[in-house]
Amino acid sequence: MKKAKKTKASVKNSGLSGKDQMMIERTLVLIKPDGVQRGIIGKIITRFEDAGYKLVGLKMVWCDEAFAKNHYTEDISIRRGEHIRRQLVNMFLDGPVVAFCLEGVNAIEGVRKMVGSTEPRTAPPGTIRGDFAHVSYAYANEKDVAVKNIIHASSDLNDARREVKLWFGDKELHSYRTVHDMHIFN
Ligand code: ADP
Ligand code: MG
Repeated sequence: MKKAKKTKASVKNSGLSGKDQMMIERTLVLIKPDGVQRGIIGKIITRFEDAGYKLVGLKMVWCDEAFAKNHYTEDISIRRGEHIRRQLVNMFLDGPVVAFCLEGVNAIEGVRKMVGSTEPRTAPPGTIRGDFAHVSYAYANEKDVAVKNIIHASSDLNDARREVKLWFGDKELHSYRTVHDMHIFN
């Protein structure tokens, strides 16, 4: 395969025209401790690879409290309540997560669609949360834990930019060509 030309900009190595480049986004995905502990990392990553998203960064991280709070910012307290933020931080202290950055056309929306809605109980079959989990908010609340829904994905462009930067340094993100580049973009 032809080697990608090195450029400084992050998404600029696919040999795409300016308009194509504008639609290409990077998004942050985490397989949460429950997903890691259940041994379904490979199955989850395969789904995104099959859909043609490009893995541009990948690592396993066991967060400390400060880092978990930087990921789940006060925005969660405002939207879901302070107790949910506390539950999420506890969840992230429970074991390592697998963090990866995916790149693709409208990747933020597309990856969220594959992830499914937040509560596994109502996440449709075919989505990651719908296929690999089933529990309800009510059950999680009864146990005083964050609902175990396997995976996190950035929700919009602002979140994606902030989260990719939080989890990955510039040198941990890579630009290269895949077969999808040939078939999708040519
Ligand atoms: P999403 O992960 O779908 O973007 P949010 O950002 O709103 O959803 O919430 C972050 C995480 O907080 C969820 O993925 C879930 O693990 C947890 N959570 C949200 N709401 C609740 C709830 N009512 N009860 C238990 N856990 C919740
Ligand atoms: Mg969210």
